[in-house]
Amino acid sequence: MARPKSTLLNPRTTHFEFFGPIGVTFVFLTTSLLPYLLYFACEQPGQCPPSSVTALVNRLQAITLAELFNAQVCLLYIGWFLYLVVLYYVVPGSLVPGTELRTGERLTYRINGFRSLLVTCGLIFLLHRVYGPAPFIYITDHFVHWITAAWLFATLQALFLYVRSFRNHSSKPANPPVLLALGGNSSNWFYDFFIGRELNPRVLGGTLDLKVFCELRPGIIGWLVLNFSFLIKQAQALDGYITESMALIFFLQGLYTFDTFIYESSVLTTMDVTTDGFGWMLSFGDLAWVPFIFSIQARYLALEPVLLGPVGTGLVVAVGIASFLIFRLSNSQKNIFRTNPHDPRVRGLKYIETESGSKLLISGWWGLARHINYLGDWLFGLSWCLTTGFGSPIPYFYIIYFGILLIHRERRDDHKCRLKYKQDWDRYCSIVKYRIVPGIY
Ligand code: NDP
Repeated sequence: MARPKSTLLNPRTTHFEFFGPIGVTFVFLTTSLLPYLLYFACEQPGQCPPSSVTALVNRLQAITLAELFNAQVCLLYIGWFLYLVVLYYVVPGSLVPGTELRTGERLTYRINGFRSLLVTCGLIFLLHRVYGPAPFIYITDHFVHWITAAWLFATLQALFLYVRSFRNHSSKPANPPVLLALGGNSSNWFYDFFIGRELNPRVLGGTLDLKVFCELRPGIIGWLVLNFSFLIKQAQALDGYITESMALIFFLQGLYTFDTFIYESSVLTTMDVTTDGFGWMLSFGDLAWVPFIFSIQARYLALEPVLLGPVGTGLVVAVGIASFLIFRLSNSQKNIFRTNPHDPRVRGLKYIETESGSKLLISGWWGLARHINYLGDWLFGLSWCLTTGFGSPIPYFYIIYFGILLIHRERRDDHKCRLKYKQDWDRYCSIVKYRIVPGIY
């Protein structure tokens, strides 16, 4: 078969995200610094945030290298990553095809994340039985060191993948040409390093897809381990008790983690996997941002135990369950419809046919807004923040950031769908008028 010319296969990127190279430099710097800033702004009980900006600035100026970097933690972090790679190979799983690439091929993915999660939960239980709270207190006490370890790992991984994306396969006919992400081939090296040049980088003879591996495992399972460690930390401070707020955050975020892995294969159809390259943005997001930003509420509660009382608990449970149902039911409805439109659970739903051959739902959850699933996800995040009460704005950082991410993500998805569906997308938007919040946005 004739091989496509590399410029035909990988056209130059003409549309820039984040306002181009200057914008991505800004995002690189701010997102790198924010996990540290949020830590030092919420380090001591009663000072989360510190009483004044001057107090915070003084603390930041007094930071030493030893507070930021620890070689033992870096080695343990590499061990954590390798442990999950081993589970990826030894835990039984199924092989699932991904979406069709623009070369017409489909890659196959090994799905065994849920079982890897269960094995890890079993090991955590064992570790606690054998060694008590000590290993978990070690994890919480080295929080900043873990951030640095993950940042270094994510950055080195992104650099390695950027350089590797230039490999030449012409001398190896058995190997496919390197498929680049349409958005990460601008020829500005920093922009491409940030966005991600290669679409589906695979290592170890093509058996380990680094993007899909990192998307869920080290970060999301690591987040659960961090939450458990903060729960243990609170229990140690309160003579073996934990507050209902800590139990709630552990339960709600545990539900999100388990849900993610139960529906592991649905990650294969997300924009991250089908469209984005694997660059610094995803590498850092998956490995550093998710565990160290998403655990912000549990970390706060370990520092400042909050008693919600029956009314507060009821409110958090109500918001949490309702939003989780919106999130889960809407995502499932689309998945079922796309897999089998004749399934009795979606048979009565209305949809429009498009010239591309795909069908777009216009009733049920997807008749309410074009991304009603984002609304459920955001409100679920709000329920996490509410577990911390109203004593500090720091734990609410999560929903501010997540709101910005979802608005930006919806615009990107809209752009992608407009290119794909053309006038059919306008027709769809005239029927389903709202982007995320029915009646408002
Ligand atoms: P979606 O699951 O919302 O899927 C969007 C795609 O679905 C579109 O590109 C289109 O693809 C298809 N589609 C759009 N409208 C319709 C319709 N009416 N009927 C049928 N198909 C339609 O995208 P995401 O990957 O962004 O989100 C998945 C979940 O992951 C969400 O719940 C989101 O909240 C969550 N998420 C969480 C994050 C976190 O950090 N916690 C980060 C990102 C996402 P096609 O080309 O196939 O038509």
